[in-house]
Amino acid sequence: MGEHTGAKLTPVEYLAHLMTPEKQSDHICWQCKHFKWVQKGSGFPPKDIIGWCKKIHWPHYWSISDMDVIKKCYASEPLA
Ligand code: SF4
Repeated sequence: MGEHTGAKLTPVEYLAHLMTPEKQSDHICWQCKHFKWVQKGSGFPPKDIIGWCKKIHWPHYWSISDMDVIKKCYASEPLA
């Protein structure tokens, strides 16, 4: 996990942290069940990456750039 502050989180705080994305954008991917976003505070991925598509480029989990704003996608499937 990203920045290591040494602070202890409660289970609820930890879950809230896991559900918090690093970025916000207009990509259709945010409404798609195949999208895995970069978690807030993660220092691993490049700064222009909002997350990964787990379908089209499987098994490599290709990253989606902040600059490649996707408005339509043939493989998009809505969140349940
Ligand atoms: S299937 Fe399409 S909409 Fe869904 S995460 Fe991949 S690129 Fe984004």
